[in-house]
Amino acid sequence: MSTQTIEEKQYLVRFKADTKSHLTVLDHDVCLTKCPEKYCTLFCPGEVYKWEGKRMHVGYEGCHECGSCRIGCPYQNIKWEYPKGGYGVIFRLA
Ligand code: SF4
Ligand code: SF4
Repeated sequence: MSTQTIEEKQYLVRFKADTKSHLTVLDHDVCLTKCPEKYCTLFCPGEVYKWEGKRMHVGYEGCHECGSCRIGCPYQNIKWEYPKGGYGVIFRLA
């Protein structure tokens, strides 16, 4: 059984970021006016979404590709795609 902590396991995760985001917030006004809870900043394990006062910043480079934001945004306001082949998250077990 592994004795690694979550933090140690997270440290093993690597990313090969594309220059173009595979995640898009479709309408920033919806985030501003209809979603005071900013759910995506809570459920995303990669802390990809950061609210910057009037706009949602999307740090797609740190996406774990878990797919939660496809279903978690109550306004279907996030366009989600897999990163292009050869890019994205790289999980290592040890
Ligand atoms: S959950 Fe959806 S609507 Fe709410 S802040 Fe995030 S992207 Fe915007
Ligand atoms: S797929 Fe998962 S890790 Fe990537 S942005 Fe969406 S919720 Fe965050």
